[in-house]
Amino acid sequence: MTGNAKGKKILYGGDYNPEQWPEDTWEGDLKLLKKAHINILTLNVFSWGLLQPKEDEYDFTMLDKIMALVKKYDFKVFMATSTGAHPAWMPKKYPDTVRAESNGLRRKYGRRHSLCPNSSNYRKFSAALAGELAKRYAGYDNIVAWHVNNEYTGMCFCENCEKAFRIWLKDRYQTIENVNKAWNANFWSHTYHEFDEIVVPGALSEAHMRWGKMKSFFQGLSLDYSRFMSDSFLECFLAEKEAIRKYSKDVPVTTNFQGIIKQLDMHKWAKHLDVVGWDNYPGYKEEPAAVGFRHEIVYGLQDGRPFALMEQSPGVNNWDEYCRLKRPGVMRLWSYQALAHGSDTVMFFQMKRSVGSCEKFHGAVIDHCGRDDTRVFREVADLGDELENRLKGEILGARTRSDVAIIFDWENWWAAEYSAGPSSHIDYMAETVRFYKGLFKGNISVDVIGTDADFSKYKLIIAPMLYMNKNGFDEKLRNYIREGGNFVTSFFSGYVDENDNIITGGYPGKWRDFMGLWIEESDALPPEEKNFFTYKGKTYEAGFICDLLRLEGAESLAVYGRDFYKGVPVLARNRFGKGNTWHVGARADDDFYRDFLKDICMELEIRPISAAAPENLEVTVRENDNGRFIFLLNHDSNEICFESDMTGVDMLSGNQITAGKAMTIPGYGVVVLKQNR
Ligand SMILES: [Zn+2]
Repeated sequence: MTGNAKGKKILYGGDYNPEQWPEDTWEGDLKLLKKAHINILTLNVFSWGLLQPKEDEYDFTMLDKIMALVKKYDFKVFMATSTGAHPAWMPKKYPDTVRAESNGLRRKYGRRHSLCPNSSNYRKFSAALAGELAKRYAGYDNIVAWHVNNEYTGMCFCENCEKAFRIWLKDRYQTIENVNKAWNANFWSHTYHEFDEIVVPGALSEAHMRWGKMKSFFQGLSLDYSRFMSDSFLECFLAEKEAIRKYSKDVPVTTNFQGIIKQLDMHKWAKHLDVVGWDNYPGYKEEPAAVGFRHEIVYGLQDGRPFALMEQSPGVNNWDEYCRLKRPGVMRLWSYQALAHGSDTVMFFQMKRSVGSCEKFHGAVIDHCGRDDTRVFREVADLGDELENRLKGEILGARTRSDVAIIFDWENWWAAEYSAGPSSHIDYMAETVRFYKGLFKGNISVDVIGTDADFSKYKLIIAPMLYMNKNGFDEKLRNYIREGGNFVTSFFSGYVDENDNIITGGYPGKWRDFMGLWIEESDALPPEEKNFFTYKGKTYEAGFICDLLRLEGAESLAVYGRDFYKGVPVLARNRFGKGNTWHVGARADDDFYRDFLKDICMELEIRPISAAAPENLEVTVRENDNGRFIFLLNHDSNEICFESDMTGVDMLSGNQITAGKAMTIPGYGVVVLKQNR
């Protein structure tokens, strides 16, 4: 981002909402934030009601004053467009600007995340405001990025979305016959004769809850609706971006993803973002590997270009079931985890705690007491000092090179989880994290890629639960393996085409030749029921989905230990062309993924970043012209001591680390080891 190029500083700051405070408090806030080494503020996220009090009237008085003040105090700015929550007059006069729920009921004014993405009125007003803001503030050289809307999410089921969906379908399929074919429409008499017979797949038509998950009776339609909704929100973003670009030609335009957001195809979106930004709010029980994986998804969206961590809480998340305090050091640790995985910023929501409404107990740099000597404030200030004076800008722009990639695909996510069977508890993200965690424990660097990525860069590609084989994907994969690539997959992979129709002839459909096997049946086991298998002398658990493999060229590496399929292969390897494939036919315990992937990596000469670092220490590496930066993150409350196999200087403590000598990392501690290239 342009802000980095000039100051060479890690952008450190986040959301400040002065519109919620009396004007005479602003300057005091900014002075406090300066003390905490905050250098960037995200402004104007939710001010639409103030900026446009009436349909034909704008009022920028407040924003002008704030912008003058933050410039005086030399803050950089992420300038938001304020379009994430409506002004109250808008739904009153234009009810179409708010969305309809799955049950068809139109919302009233209120909350946020309420926009209908196919409301022409919403699009007109939001783009107009973005344009007005850009026209007025484009001359401020402290604006480092435009932040469009805020955390786009959800779906709308209104009649405007229904009409727009039919147009989207015509564009995708041209004829109603093609739609019928794509959706297997003769099922349950769904045969359509006109496009306007197609209705949105909400609760009044195909959507229903089963075992706590949203499912669909007619999955091809629901899958296309998910695609359409993601595209519709993207069009809203692009309308604002276009309006901004009329006045601000070079400043990056982005939005902040609300975590790894299932509703938006983030791969498709990333092509239109000048920098990818996301908000990271781990729950207090979450495993470090699951959070690391999410960072890697974001890092992979633009082929390994550094991203922006745009929000995290400096303290508690107010929406947690129990707002457990982040233990001392954890906020720092999680901030470094973002940097370790490719972020060039550390940003928070929020700078100052609100006094009213649902975020008043969410963590903030400045608490209700307004002091600079609270634990949270001091931790934020210490980290700011460390980033500014120890890490400096040295890691900016640094990238990671990995030999291993994990595929994560949104259309597959939607389709696999709409599926009725083999279990209602299919969780694509969780299954994928199991493989990532195996590599995480082995300190193996991993990229997360989409199905469109260049496979030739990788020695090993892992695609857990890749249920959907999109057009041409199998051929791309086949060529990669034939030329010496290595591929690991799991149960519930390769079953359907891009319309969610089964590829007949035996699962995994078009992958059978390079997998060297087919799956006759899959047993879904409830959590209390387990099978087992023995691999290389060690016994592991098998559960959830258990594939009964029929080998046709592949070699069995392990068989089930009990039940009527005792002796049937669960784990198999095939040699194809110059490459290899492996099928993991059941969900195993964590140790299996670690041991199994370690074996494959050893065979393929994929080396860990550190062979000596213990598995409860997270290790990542980023590189640029300034050097090679190895991040060592202790997610445990106890100190970790081991004999280092790395030499370099810890940028944070200044200590020399020498290979062959003991290295100690305190509980929740971080080391950033710099090596010259
Ligand atoms: Zn709508």
